Amino acid sequence: MTDTMPEISSDDLEKFRADVAAFLAEHTKPNASYEECQAFMGKLADAGFGGIVYGSEYGGAGLSRAHDRIFREEASRVPTMSNEFIISHGMCLPVLNDFGTDEQKRTYMPDCIAGRTLWCQMFSEPGAGSDVASLQTKAVLDGDEWIINGQKVWTTLAHKSDYAVLIARTDPEQVKHAGISMFILPMDAAGVEVRPIHQIDGGKHFNEVFFSDVRVPKENLLGELNNGWNQATAMLMYERVAIGTIGGGKISQPTFKMLKAAAEAGDCLDDANVRQDLATIYSMETTKALMSLRTRAEMKAGKAPGPGGSLGKLFGSVIAWRTREILMNMAGPASMAWDNGDEGYERARYTLNSFQSSIAGGTDEIQRNIIGDRVLGLPRDVNVDRGVPFKDLKVGTQRTD
Ligand SMILES: Cc1cc2nc3c(=O)[nH]c(=O)nc-3n(C[C@H](O)[C@H](O)[C@H](O)COP(=O)(O)OP(=O)(O)OC[C@H]3O[C@@H](n4cnc5c(N)ncnc54)[C@H](O)[C@@H]3O)c2cc1C
Repeated sequence: MTDTMPEISSDDLEKFRADVAAFLAEHTKPNASYEECQAFMGKLADAGFGGIVYGSEYGGAGLSRAHDRIFREEASRVPTMSNEFIISHGMCLPVLNDFGTDEQKRTYMPDCIAGRTLWCQMFSEPGAGSDVASLQTKAVLDGDEWIINGQKVWTTLAHKSDYAVLIARTDPEQVKHAGISMFILPMDAAGVEVRPIHQIDGGKHFNEVFFSDVRVPKENLLGELNNGWNQATAMLMYERVAIGTIGGGKISQPTFKMLKAAAEAGDCLDDANVRQDLATIYSMETTKALMSLRTRAEMKAGKAPGPGGSLGKLFGSVIAWRTREILMNMAGPASMAWDNGDEGYERARYTLNSFQSSIAGGTDEIQRNIIGDRVLGLPRDVNVDRGVPFKDLKVGTQRTD
């Protein structure tokens, strides 16, 4: 990233802001489809606003964190066009940039930035979610190729993706965090099978993915051999920041607005309890926006996202839980039964979807552990695996023979 940028004048930044605002006003629209978002990413890159902080040799704009902040501020004023690109752009791109070789960055980053390729994250397995270091997908080097066998689960957008950032065990003789490596997996490689998971709200956004003797070139190792855990931790930090700072360019209260509209529609805005609930959500969202701004300011100052990102992630999920309760109290049975096209459907969807905020990107309990241990300096969780080679552990779905 461009930490050594020369001083930028405020006039230049204001001109940049005006250019971005004009571009966004022309090219964004509400409820854009995936294809429209993809086309938008291409236009963004063509206009010099794609991958703002990444080097121009890697398809980025080669600009500063100050430009990035201005871009986010302006983007938060218009309908979002980035939903399905959050994993690609918010998580895979920074990891490619941090750990990729020059050749990998030249090969993969320009297409990712311009939305020509979509990326997904393959960490979780049936026996390795919160404790992802227990993963058992294996990668074994065979001449010039890695052979991958195993299974991932909950892989968001695997069915649409061109590539995955995958972690696999490369040395079971080492302790469980040490023998893991990170790979770039082309989703069209022979032996990759994607099976959709049907969700409670009717969607099919995530998948099970199976690997049967999948061969990828040796060069697809991303970062250092057996350093995958440190890299995965960095990616999880980016993930928490991406989730915890959604809409983080400005102080806004989108959930409050949604609830207020629901109260107006249900004719209960005069109810003192409802108004109190609305005020609570308003203040919680304002606090979360301020936390996001702080996280972004730290990143602008050149700090890698730290465990503080967990605060924003956790608070987002606390807000979702509280909002769900308020919505159900306000709408009663009308939030569970509706006619085609009426608002009850949107409310029920919010309610069902709100549960995922406590799981995706690390559960609430895990965020609390991170905050306790690494922000507040409290004693660490008990660790029974310390010093034991992975092959000797009885963890997750590990066989006992
Ligand atoms: C919408 C969504 C999208 C996702 N997308 C992806 C994706 O794209 N790629 C990917 O790799 N994964 C993805 N995941 C998976 C997600 O990261 C895992 O579900 C999550 O990390 C939890 O793991 P688990 O489901 O195995 O639950 P478990 O780890 O089995 O946890 C079960 C329960 O035990 C609690 N628990 C576990 N360990 C502790 C502990 N040490 N202390 C206290 N409590 C504990 C948990 O909080 C939880 O309540 C996604 C999940 C969701 C919901």
